[in-house]
Amino acid sequence: RRDLDESAENARKRWKEGDVRTVADHYNARPNTDREARVDSPIIGLKRFNNWIKSVLIGRFGRREGDATPLIKVLDLGCGKGGDLQKWSKAGTGGYVGIDIATVSVEQARSRWEGIRFNRFPAEFYALDCFESSIDEVLPPATIERPFDVVSMQFCMHYAFETEEKVRTMLANVARHLKPGGVFIGTIPDAKNLFEHLDAADPDNPLVFGNSVYSVKFDSRECDSIYGHRYTFYLQDAVEEVPEYVVYWDPFVELAQEYGLELRFHADFQTVFAEEQGDPYFSNLLRRMKVMDAEGNAEMDEDQLDAAMLYLGFAFV
Ligand code: SAM
Repeated sequence: RRDLDESAENARKRWKEGDVRTVADHYNARPNTDREARVDSPIIGLKRFNNWIKSVLIGRFGRREGDATPLIKVLDLGCGKGGDLQKWSKAGTGGYVGIDIATVSVEQARSRWEGIRFNRFPAEFYALDCFESSIDEVLPPATIERPFDVVSMQFCMHYAFETEEKVRTMLANVARHLKPGGVFIGTIPDAKNLFEHLDAADPDNPLVFGNSVYSVKFDSRECDSIYGHRYTFYLQDAVEEVPEYVVYWDPFVELAQEYGLELRFHADFQTVFAEEQGDPYFSNLLRRMKVMDAEGNAEMDEDQLDAAMLYLGFAFV
């Protein structure tokens, strides 16, 4: 009986590790392109738009205002290759800890930070699965002051939704490291939008949708749990058929409350764009980041636009 239990447990672990390893291997294998090569990307418009959205979230929620000591401390979970380091620098960061499961990405993030010439803030980088273990147990004592003012999880949290256990571990990691009144911000695929696309899918291929830029392939339309509802995602020049999980939003907000996290903001990218393009600073930023040209035309084509609008941004306090 014990042998049977153990082998079932091992099979379950292997299966679970399979998805996690696919995600880590995928991001490790992505080339670390320099600025010039990034500009050549066929989806550069989409990447710039996503960067603008993250700048808006950081600008709105990731900085302290009217404080005598305005330098903020940031914990970036799923930091990837450090693509947000400059944004955090501009937000007035006094300390940054970046963690990601993909060891190669973490090293690339560290070298990107080493390359920051002006206002380089203290930073530490670690390779770790943030959904499997308490980050306190595995990290060496950090020199960056804790707890943090902001925890950021950009385009990453949905990977946790394979199991409730992982989501709880993730939430405990977020909540334990935030100051009272601190902010947890992030971006994830919007389940409502995914299902709207799925419902409009080709009846001959009802579990698949996408366009020339991206594709989404669900394992099944329904799932008997709010965790583990899996699909594979492909995005040109960015993500190769990686397993992701639906984030059922309302149950997540309820669960987050158990960890002391109160929802402050939640909007799909279309709404963020509609609301913030009227703000003088963010509208200027749209042009500076080349999301739009001087005449106000989007630099993305229709297919990139459709891919961009699959996502939502959030902020909890
Ligand atoms: N946040 C970065 C950004 O916005 O540019 C990277 C986003 S990338 C789409 C998703 C990142 O989540 C990858 O770097 C991946 O390795 C990381 N990730 C996925 N599962 C993770 C886990 N269990 N623990 C830590 N990082 C994870």
